[in-house]
Amino acid sequence: MLLVAAGMSLLGVAGCRGTTEPADGAQGAQGAPGPEPGGEASGAPAAAPTAGASSPAAASPASASASALPGVATGTPVAAPRVLSAAESKPVYELDAERRVVALTIDDGPDPRHTPTVLALLEQYRIRATFFLIGENAAEHPDLVREIAARGHHIANHTWTHPDLRSLSDAKIRDELERTSDLLNKATGKPPTWFRAPGGDWSTPSLKIAADLGMRNMAWSVDPRDWARPGTEVITERILKDVRPGAIVLNHDGGGDRSQTVAALKAYLPVLIDSGYYFTAPAG
Ligand SMILES: [Zn+2]
Repeated sequence: MLLVAAGMSLLGVAGCRGTTEPADGAQGAQGAPGPEPGGEASGAPAAAPTAGASSPAAASPASASASALPGVATGTPVAAPRVLSAAESKPVYELDAERRVVALTIDDGPDPRHTPTVLALLEQYRIRATFFLIGENAAEHPDLVREIAARGHHIANHTWTHPDLRSLSDAKIRDELERTSDLLNKATGKPPTWFRAPGGDWSTPSLKIAADLGMRNMAWSVDPRDWARPGTEVITERILKDVRPGAIVLNHDGGGDRSQTVAALKAYLPVLIDSGYYFTAPAG
């Protein structure tokens, strides 16, 4: 399907509509060593550490050039698609380890059985997270998509049908990603700026296509394998054992019964907060 026009318009604002985009561009590019904002107790700073979200080599020039796009300063949608650098197209595995920060990422939803409970928990602890949504689930529950965004979380792209991208043609990969971005943009008014391959199974074409569509690729550094339902205690223990400053934690609120994950969130979030971690949803 040809979505050139739609693609152009959604790409045009990709990465330029972060919560506090001038600050993201300016400070994020340099690793944002500034103080942790106190606005939200344990919650995310208003300006997520963009560069913190970069792998060491992924570097600031990319972020800096992104922020230098014309029209960004006023927040006006930019006409030209954002072209990401090669470094930006590589998956990000961790944030800046200099700060005691964790990025919580929630995959495979939205799911009416679990997403509302997760949202309530995040609100309780004033945490902002990144939700990697599957397009066909988002199409089925657009109210939940809007609810996630309305609560200040980041909406991210996790393909339309959750396929193994390594087995797909370039055209099919593009369709999976573009269709999902288009839907999320329509639902929330903002195109997603992060992409995650199902299973973390990136391929070279998928990295490039995501970048072409204005998205950076986010992996993770802490995987409790909650999707396999090993038990709430096991999920909790794995996270608390592996988490460290800059961690990107992978959890799931969709794709099956995720009650163990929800129970684990209830258990580990207060522990991390009590030990001085704060949470962020990195700008793309
Ligand atoms: Zn997934």
